[in-house]
Amino acid sequence: MSKISEIKVFPTSVAMTEKFTIGTGFVGDPDAAGDHVFVKITTDDGYIGWGEQRALPSWSYETTESITSTIRFHIAPLLLGKNPLFRNEFSKDINNILKPAVSNGHPFAKAAVDIAIHDLCGKILDTPLHSLLGGKQHNSLPLCYALSIDSAEIMALKAKALQPCSCFKVKVEGKPEKDEERIRTINEMAPDAKLWIDANQSYTPANAVELLRRVEDVNQVYCLEQPVSSQDWFGMKRVKEGSHIPIAIDEGCFSHFDLAKIVKLECADAVVLKLCKSGGILECLKTANIAEANSIEILGSGLTEAGIGFIASVHLFSTLDLALPVELNAPVFLDSMIADGIEIDEHVVSVPDGPGLGIIPDEDYINAHPIHLDS
Ligand SMILES: [Mg+2]
Repeated sequence: MSKISEIKVFPTSVAMTEKFTIGTGFVGDPDAAGDHVFVKITTDDGYIGWGEQRALPSWSYETTESITSTIRFHIAPLLLGKNPLFRNEFSKDINNILKPAVSNGHPFAKAAVDIAIHDLCGKILDTPLHSLLGGKQHNSLPLCYALSIDSAEIMALKAKALQPCSCFKVKVEGKPEKDEERIRTINEMAPDAKLWIDANQSYTPANAVELLRRVEDVNQVYCLEQPVSSQDWFGMKRVKEGSHIPIAIDEGCFSHFDLAKIVKLECADAVVLKLCKSGGILECLKTANIAEANSIEILGSGLTEAGIGFIASVHLFSTLDLALPVELNAPVFLDSMIADGIEIDEHVVSVPDGPGLGIIPDEDYINAHPIHLDS
């Protein structure tokens, strides 16, 4: 029986190819590489599993330092010597020492480890990750790409250049008039693409309602995501009641417990699933189940993770029915996916069928781009 013998954590710098700005501010650019944390778990009989998350504390509170130290000093000691196939037991043990409390407690760190454990389980059982979740329902997934906040013209030109992408995540900044111009210009330049508007908490409820009224004749606008502050569920409700356009919740919903309250408050029409904020694959599926049973539409997204986090999300989302293409935007923003074996054709990604994640991480890149946390 396999036992976990080593857990290594690699804080790694991954370059971005272009500037990325969202409603909460700067994410990264070619001069300011993103911080990613990779996890490598090895068993005593030679199996290796990889996990990853991206640190973006301006989106959620976990830093590169906190993710790295949480895994190294708190999660890893719990897992050493254990059989990786007992995932439910791990989850319970980890949540006993890192309590979810009223949040879900260090979800990014937990998610990075969880992906590595799932990769490992798939390799030990010689089966793809998606089959551990009941099997894929889709052999491939269309991708939705994010358009960083910029002038209306530049955003629209990027949308045009990314054709035939069928859906864009349009980042907006809390200014109804300027954001309306962005949405209309993109729609004119890429009329066949669905527009998934994401405010990243940059709006007041009243201004969000104004934006939605301004663009309600733009048929390709599918929804507005997270218009107001993540804690402001009553503000979400005011926006939802003031618009015919569906409202999606992202930063305001990290767990299935959150979604249960959101359903009761009737403050969202759709929920954005992200592995990072859920703390792991099985936790994320719990949120999906609550959503399905309450007629809340499911949207799939990520946080510009490189290939390991990206493809783990692809496995997960292949088992669900999503309302829109998956917003996993690393292929357009990252200098490297840091993995071989990812197949993307015309903005459609294939769901791998090899064991575990079904890709080969580029360990040389990871070793060559360390972030030194003690300097
Ligand atoms: Mg979002």
